[in-house]
Amino acid sequence: MAEKKKRGLLFCVCLGTCPSFKDINEYEVLNALRKEKLVDWVGLHPQLCSTDGDEYLKTLLKGNDVDELYVAGCDPVMQKKMFRDAFDAAGFDRNKHIGIEVRNMKTDEVIDLIKKVIQERDKSV
Ligand code: SF4
Repeated sequence: MAEKKKRGLLFCVCLGTCPSFKDINEYEVLNALRKEKLVDWVGLHPQLCSTDGDEYLKTLLKGNDVDELYVAGCDPVMQKKMFRDAFDAAGFDRNKHIGIEVRNMKTDEVIDLIKKVIQERDKSV
């Protein structure tokens, strides 16, 4: 049997003031995912694309055993560009990052979307 993947989920709340997130209760999202044990750990950050966001990612990911890092927030292509240097500095394989766009969604929709992305990755293995 294949070894269970180590999965982390970060929610970037875009300072907590962005109107695109106004209908999302981020705590509810993280709680739903951790309660179902779909990820091994969760975290919330106000601005992952800032300098201290870089530091956070470097500190979190250096020497880690994370197989898949899900980041709920803005556009995945933007995420790839913005987190690239921090991932490289931490020695974290960029391909393990899975960005999920959740802007302009509601809490339940975000929960369902993240679950779907995780389950689809399981199926594709
Ligand atoms: S990483 Fe994306 S969601 Fe997070 S603060 Fe930057 S633009 Fe906003």
